[in-house]
Amino acid sequence: MARYRCPGCGHVYDEQRGNPHEGFPPGTRWAQVPDDWACPDCAVRDKADFVPAPGDD
Ligand SMILES: [Zn+2]
Repeated sequence: MARYRCPGCGHVYDEQRGNPHEGFPPGTRWAQVPDDWACPDCAVRDKADFVPAPGDD
């Protein structure tokens, strides 16, 4: 499972946790997140802007 971080606000999408509030259950792969999905925290950055994040912190 991988994690991806918003470069604008630091929000992290964790595939293991998903984002139930956004409609992505735990285990939803990054590849399954729509390309036009915007960061739920800042709503400025889109999926394409996210960068891979370390697996544990
Ligand atoms: Zn953001």
